[in-house]
Amino acid sequence: MSWKERVARFLQGRYGVDQFSKFLVGAAMVCILLSGLLRNRFFHLLGWVCLAYIYVRMLSRNFERRYAENQAYLRVQGKVLDFFRRQKSVGTAADREHKIYKCPACGQKTRVPRGRGKIEIDCPRCHHKFIKRT
Ligand SMILES: [Zn+2]
Repeated sequence: MSWKERVARFLQGRYGVDQFSKFLVGAAMVCILLSGLLRNRFFHLLGWVCLAYIYVRMLSRNFERRYAENQAYLRVQGKVLDFFRRQKSVGTAADREHKIYKCPACGQKTRVPRGRGKIEIDCPRCHHKFIKRT
């Protein structure tokens, strides 16, 4: 049996690599890098724990458990990405839930929710009140 066949046989029925494993690879590298920069043993240990966990998951035969872990990871990742996307879209055309108004007295920009009809806006800086349709 060749070396490649041996590896293939060994990996048969194993879980392998998924998105969560790829994230862990990155996390492990960051931890080990940080441990070098900060001379911190905790990050060093954490990096190796990540690496060990990657191997355990890769060689695992418990597909259900690994799949559930990956789904949980993807949910968290989705939320984090969503958060950053929302931060970025604040005050831009992509932000459809808010409208930006400029205070006529001091020029301060205020963000108000859309679709509330006519509302009185209280300027956060100078407390000048003005009426706008949202
Ligand atoms: Zn103002």
